[in-house]
Formats: sequence, structure tokens, C-alpha cells
Amino acid sequence: MVSGPELDRARETAETALRHMAVLGIPPTPENYAVWFAYAAGSDPHLRRTIDILMDNGQEFDDLRNAELHARFVLPTYRTSAVDTVADDLHAVAGQLSTTVGHAGAGVRRYGDALSNVSGALHRTGADGTGADDTGVRSLVTGLMQETREMEANNARLRERLEQSSSEIARLRETLEETRREASTDGLTGIANRMRFERELRMAAAAAMEDGTTLCLLMADIDHFKVFNDTHGHSVGDQVLRLVARVLSEAVRPGDLVARYGGEEFTVILPDCNLDEAARIAERIRDRIGHRHVVRRSTGDDLGAVTLSLGATAYRFGEPIAQAVERADAALYRAKQAGRNRVEVDGDLSAAAAN
Ligand code: GH3
Ligand code: MG
Ligand code: MG
Repeated sequence: MVSGPELDRARETAETALRHMAVLGIPPTPENYAVWFAYAAGSDPHLRRTIDILMDNGQEFDDLRNAELHARFVLPTYRTSAVDTVADDLHAVAGQLSTTVGHAGAGVRRYGDALSNVSGALHRTGADGTGADDTGVRSLVTGLMQETREMEANNARLRERLEQSSSEIARLRETLEETRREASTDGLTGIANRMRFERELRMAAAAAMEDGTTLCLLMADIDHFKVFNDTHGHSVGDQVLRLVARVLSEAVRPGDLVARYGGEEFTVILPDCNLDEAARIAERIRDRIGHRHVVRRSTGDDLGAVTLSLGATAYRFGEPIAQAVERADAALYRAKQAGRNRVEVDGDLSAAAAN
């Protein structure tokens, strides 16, 4: 039982949590409440710091942000989906139940053996005339033994069913995992799709603000791709998209995220990376793409190289991520205007350096 000062403290914490939520317009759902109660209680310094930084930067606590905070700090192990946790729990419970029923079954079997011994003893006592041939007792025991056997059979069936449910849950989890992977992957190139890019960029922006590190972003677009497509056909065009995705993935650092933004546009998230380094990575990508020749598989014809234009920018703490994307896009546009096959860096270097 919680009592006295402890209860007062809990009440104060709850009131503080609700006040914060009211001020920030956060819906008082159980998940949000759990986040803000933990914040008010100060029980997790990491959570506290993250929220303080988000508040200092005037970030909005919308549904997505709230769900992220909950997933990151409240769910016992960080997972991208609550469904996972539920499935995990179900799996564990089914496993435990199976063990419990298994033990119960063993208990019943031992009970049966014991009864069987008693029955045998009674038989012997009755047969050699040294004791009362108590038919009543014997039939009682026989009846009990039959019941026991039925119990055992029931138990076995129950256990089998539980084991089936347990493996069914495991199978469902795999399907769920697979579905999530598919939902965040671009079907043609196998790299992250735009949905995943946006999710990861939000998280990377929050992490950058939290750690005080510089986050950079690249936008890349294949040059004159329409002409390439019209000249060589759509399937060779698709082959080029896959090639560009591969070269991009190979040119970045571990922990960077390459995504297909749409059509023939790609984007790269570069956490903990200053703008100079981002420009160097962009230049490396541009150079590598320009040196790869596209070969028509059916004929072996060399179709030459494609080129890539890129724009780079640094995330500014507190800005909406769409704004950073727009800046990278504007830099990319300048690269196109300046003749393509080049890298342009977002002009406002002083703002990036101030980060
Ligand atoms: P710029 O240098 O200005 O970027 O010119 P561009 O021709 O690359 O740009 P534009 O936007 O005019 O054309 C983009 C082309 O990309 C149009 C379309 O044929 C091609 N494209 C977009 N998505 C795909 C795809 O999934 N597969 C293939 N093969 N082509 C695609
Ligand atoms: Mg384009
Ligand atoms: Mg293009």
C-alpha cells in the first residue's frame, strides 16, 4: 500500500504531469500519461532531457511525437511497434502456461501412480485373507483412477493446444516483422522508402537536438533521366535506379540512411556529420555514380554513365524537418541550374555552424 508522504508525492507528480499535458495540448491517453508521469517524476534523466530539449526548441507534441516518446521511453524494451510487445507477452504467457500445465500433468500422473499402488495393495490385502475384502473401497479407487486417466488425457490435449497457440503466435510475429519491413522498403531498389525516411529523419533530428550533434541531409536526383528512360527503355531505367541505390548505400558511412524519396530522387540522412563532411560524402557519391557504366544485360551494350546532382544541408535545431528537406531540395535545384553532375551545399553555412 502506498501511504502518507509517498501518496502525496505521487499525487503531486500526477498533477504536474496533467498540467504539462494540458498546457501542451497533449491528449490524456494512458500512453501519454505514462510518458508525462515519468517526466514529472524525473525518474528517467534521459526522457527528461529529451523532453526539455523538445520544449526548449518549441517542438510540437503531436500524435507521432507522443507515440515516439512512449515507444522509446515507456515500453520496457524499445520497439517500433506496440504490437510486437503484445505478441512477445502473449508468446511468453503461452510458454509459461504450457510449462505450468506440463507440471500439472506430471503431478496428476504421480497421483495416478500412487492411487494405483494403493489399489494393488488393497487387492493383495483382500486376496490373502489377512484383511477385509472391501469391494466398496476398491471400486472407489478404480473410479478415481479412471477419473485421473481422463484428467491426464485432458491435460495432454490442453497442452498440445497451448503449444499450437504458442507456435502460431511466433509465426504471426514473423509475419508482422516481414510486413513492417515491406512497408518501409522500396520495392524496386530494396532501400528505405519515403515513409521510413521521414520517420528516421524525425528521430535523427530529435537525437541531434538531444546530443547537440550536427545532422546533415542530402537530396540527390539523376540527371536527364527522362531522356535515358526514353532512349533505352523503362527496364534499363529501373536497372539504373537499382545501381544508384547500391552505389549510394556503399558510399555512405555505417549508420547513415539511404532512401528512395520518389521517382529518380534519393535522400541520405547523415547523423553526427558536419556540413563539410556531408559535402565530401556527396562528392564521393557523385564521383562514383559518374564512373559506373550501365550495361544492357540482354546485349552487353555499354550505355554509358548516368550522372547525379546533389544538394546538402544541415538540420537547424527546432525547425520542422520538412524545412530541412526543402533546403536540401533548393540546394539540389541550384546544382541542376549550375549545369548538373555537381554538389551544392546549403548557402547559410553560418547558421549550420551555429548549431
Ligand atoms: P533533371 O536532370 O532535371 O532531373 O531531368 P530528368 O529527366 O531526370 O527529370 P524529370 O523529372 O523530367 O524526369 C524524371 C524521369 O524519371 C521521368 C520518369 O520517366 C523517370 N522515372 C521516375 N520513376 C521511375 C521508375 O520507377 N522507373 C523508371 N524506369 N523511370 C522512372
Ligand atoms: Mg526528379
Ligand atoms: Mg532527374
